This record gives sequence, C-alpha cells and structure tokens, in this order.
Amino acid sequence: MDLQVKENISLREFTTFRTGGPAKYFAEAKTAQEMHYLREFAVKRQIPFVILGMGSNVLFLDEGYPGLIIHNKMSRMQIQGDRVTVEGGVNLTKMILIAAQHNLGGLSGLANIPGTVGGAVYGNAGIPDVCISDVLTHAVILPGHGDKPVIVGPEYFQFGYRHSKLKKNKDIVLSATLKMRMEPSVKIRAEIGQYIRERAAKQPVGNTCGSFFKNPSQFPSAGWLIDQAGCKGMQEGDAIVSPKHANFIINTGNAASKDILTLALKIHQKVKDKFNVNMEPEVQILPLSPF
Ligand SMILES: Cc1cc2nc3c(=O)[nH]c(=O)nc-3n(C[C@H](O)[C@H](O)[C@H](O)COP(=O)(O)OP(=O)(O)OC[C@H]3O[C@@H](n4cnc5c(N)ncnc54)[C@H](O)[C@@H]3O)c2cc1C
Repeated sequence: MDLQVKENISLREFTTFRTGGPAKYFAEAKTAQEMHYLREFAVKRQIPFVILGMGSNVLFLDEGYPGLIIHNKMSRMQIQGDRVTVEGGVNLTKMILIAAQHNLGGLSGLANIPGTVGGAVYGNAGIPDVCISDVLTHAVILPGHGDKPVIVGPEYFQFGYRHSKLKKNKDIVLSATLKMRMEPSVKIRAEIGQYIRERAAKQPVGNTCGSFFKNPSQFPSAGWLIDQAGCKGMQEGDAIVSPKHANFIINTGNAASKDILTLALKIHQKVKDKFNVNMEPEVQILPLSPF
C-alpha cells in the first residue's frame, strides 16, 4: 500500500467555499483497502475522521479539523446493461456524462451538482425532479461498526429530502450501483444542456456550497424565507448573501469560515424572528456545528 498520511494540511483548497483551517492529518484513499486502513489509523489514535469528497457541501471551521481527513479518490466505474456501478470518489457529473455516452440517462438533472457519488449518497443529492435515491439499487459500504464491506439496499439509507442515515452514523460509501434509463445519448445531452441553462439563470457562480439551509416543509423555500426576511445582500467580511439567490452564501474574496458562519447565524436569526422557523443547515459544519 502506497499511503501517505500528511500533517497540518490546509483544507481551504479542498472545499468550494475556499475557507477552513488545517487538518491535523490528511490522506487520500484510492481503494477500499486504503479506506479501511485509514479509518483504523484514526480509530487506533482515538481521533475523529471524516470522508471528504469534493468539499462542495462542507464548511470547515478556521480552527481546522482535529483528526484525519480521508480524501476519497476511489475512481472506478463499470457499466453492465442499464446498471452503472461507480466508486464513491467518482465525480457525479463525470459519471453522468460517461453514462450518457452509453445511452444511459435518468440523472440529467444532477449533472451540474458538484461533488462525488459518495457525497451525493450521503446527502441524497438532487433537485425537485430527481435525486440519487430514485436510482440507487444497492451500495457497498464500510459500516461504522464493522470491518468488512457490506452490500445494502436503498431502504438501509432511510433516504429523505437531503437526508440519509449516514448523517447519523460513520458508514463509508465505497460504491453505488445505479439503475439508469436507456435512451439515446443525443436526447440525454439535450436534457443536460437544458438543466444547466436553467441552473445558470437562477444561481450565482463563485466560491459557495450552494444552498446553505434546507427548505423548511411549510414554506415555499429557504431562499424565499431569507429574501422575505430582508437578508439579500447582507455581508460579513468577504462573505455575502447572494443578491441572485438568497440561500447562497458566497465567499467573494478572502472570507474566513467565521465570516460565513456569522452571516449564516444572522440569517437564521432574522428568519426565526420574522417567521418563527428554525432553519436547518444543509451544509455540514465541521468539526462542530453551532446550529
Ligand atoms: C454551486 C453548487 C450547487 C449545488 N446544488 C445542489 C443541488 O442542486 N442539489 C443538491 O443536493 N446539492 C447541491 N449542492 C451541494 C453539493 O454539491 C452536494 O451536497 C454534493 O453531493 C456534495 O458532494 P461532495 O462529494 O462534495 O461531498 P463533501 O462536501 O465532500 O462532503 C459532504 C458530506 O458527505 C460526506 N461524505 C462524502 N463522501 C462520503 C462517502 N464516500 N461516504 C460517506 N460519507 C461521505 C462527508 O463526510 C460530508 O459529511 C450544490 C453545491 C454547490 C457548490
């Protein structure tokens, strides 16, 4: 095994917010065996660990992470009939585009969601039309309490809106098998193009993690609540509430995680004051969320 555990690695370049302090330990896992070994590295030292995909849904605090970051670089993908089996570290968009070349669609709406397949399963990534749980037939996980990889079906994950059971345990997604829809590649590509255009019209670009808060069920959306509470354009250091989409916080330059978090807490309070709703963050705040 050619494994290198580095120390004191800045997490800034590994998240789409481009903020965060250093990880005490940092290593890449390219195989299930390496993933297992690295988890043991953390367990033996009694330090916390976290699996990192593309970092498009995490905010690491400026103090850094006091344990081991395992950067998921597992990258194999296999197609059999209408099934795609893909390792957790594979880029979701890349997987959807490769499947499209094989006339396999059904996930076009997810083609522009930044992240890995493992991250998508963890948070049941999706849009109102479709989410990853709609097509997942089974997955191979390394259970939080167990040494051997286990095959589990979709029911195992207790999927919900931006939710899976993985948010409550320490299971690691090694691979996922997805049942795709057989259709002409040209049709899939046109669909993907349409979704990308729609997204570009609604969402800002920049250093962000996308929607910061989940949509509370009894209101149109978190973005609507934040807008109505008068938060659009609010700023903390270089962190701003996007004027284009109120649920997007953007790091416009050199924001620290503290700026993003302070802004998020202010937004949360303003919405609470106006609507008496406690919004829940969609972004994972590590090592400890103040929400
Ligand atoms: C511009 C933008 C737009 C976005 N739009 C959407 C959208 O439309 N819909 C949507 O659902 N999301 C959206 N997101 C959020 C984000 O893209 C998704 O949550 C994505 O699935 C995160 O994947 P990741 O690999 O980057 O995960 P990370 O951010 O690296 O990790 C997120 C969490 O998943 C866990 N995790 C990652 N991999 C594994 C694994 N293999 N096993 C176990 N746990 C794991 C991590 O430990 C962490 O807790 C958007 C983000 C951005 C920046």
